Amino acid sequence: MKTIALIAHDKKKKEMLEFVNNHKELLEKFHLIATHTTGSLINEHYHLQVETMLSGPMGGDQQIGARVAVGKVDYVIFLRDPLSSQPHEPDINALLRLCDVHNVPLATNRRSAHILLKYVASKEA
Ligand code: PGA
Repeated sequence: MKTIALIAHDKKKKEMLEFVNNHKELLEKFHLIATHTTGSLINEHYHLQVETMLSGPMGGDQQIGARVAVGKVDYVIFLRDPLSSQPHEPDINALLRLCDVHNVPLATNRRSAHILLKYVASKEA
């Protein structure tokens, strides 16, 4: 089973929930991993099984990055808040970097995430 990582900064959590709701049927077919708050919200709202890491500021991005580095993540959807500074900016950059190092598709806004999942759906069909 392929793995999709989902992460949303606080101001993007509502957007992430809407996004997950719109793509629930597809996402159900994947192993989902997420930072703690993002994953817990998705699980509470839509009863999707999500393996949660630590919260982003506590190291969750690094945990996801470690899995990217060993080839255990196939796609990353990371709804970043580009208008607020984050205490864990270095961890965020490290995750983005590891996606590039390992050529893992990464979407950082809702429209690119939608396009990514359209592609994923066409491959899974
Ligand atoms: P969270 O982490 O899902 O635990 O809020 C995401 C983040 O803020 O980096």
